[in-house]
Amino acid sequence: MNVSPSIEELVHRTLADLPTHVTLVAAAKMRSVDEVRAAVASGVRIVGQNYVQEAQRAIAVIGRTAAAWHMIGHLQRNKVKQAVRLFDMIQTVDSFRLAEKIDQECRKIDRTMPVLIEINSAREPQKSGILPEEAVEFVRELLSLRSVRIEGLMTVGPLVDDPEEIRPYFAESKRLFDELRRLAIPNVRMEILSMGMSDSYPIAIEEGANMVRLGTILFGPRD
Ligand SMILES: *Cc1c(COP(=O)(O)O)cnc(C)c1O
Repeated sequence: MNVSPSIEELVHRTLADLPTHVTLVAAAKMRSVDEVRAAVASGVRIVGQNYVQEAQRAIAVIGRTAAAWHMIGHLQRNKVKQAVRLFDMIQTVDSFRLAEKIDQECRKIDRTMPVLIEINSAREPQKSGILPEEAVEFVRELLSLRSVRIEGLMTVGPLVDDPEEIRPYFAESKRLFDELRRLAIPNVRMEILSMGMSDSYPIAIEEGANMVRLGTILFGPRD
């Protein structure tokens, strides 16, 4: 007997449980277009995609305007041309070279791309993201790129067994977010703090996240 709840039920439950100041991003990696469509039909307003190709496929079927589409995976420079035509936000700006490429491609199509700066909050050598101590300088560097608009920070955090262990890294990202807000750098909107996944989002919200990226809890475990 199949007793697993439907995507509709899971989305409704999650939306009902989230505090009103917290925005839900449905993390759709490796999900079928039908699953993503079900989530959107159930009230998901933002879909997060890790891969440009998956986003292309889903957007072709579901439609650009049915949801906002956010890039939440590592973005390669050779995919930026497609990415700036697909996404409403890129959450994973992790180098000047990437930001510069986004800026170039956006100029060609006369648009501005809202972005988040990805922070490597646990300073993991193999992980992408800007080190916390380099973030302020990085934000200032990006000001020369007029077609890129910084709207906040994003962090993934380390893979741990007990989600409690991520708390200090979420807290560190929040401190950085607050510092950047205080600096009030012209043309920088520090409004979005994207952190927390299915196993860690309650902790992320306690530490100040106002955007959470949830996959498993909305779609069920991946097979
Ligand atoms: C997969 C993924 C998520 C969601 O992970 P779940 O544990 O399935 O909720 C969130 N953010 C990013 C960047 C991801 O790749």
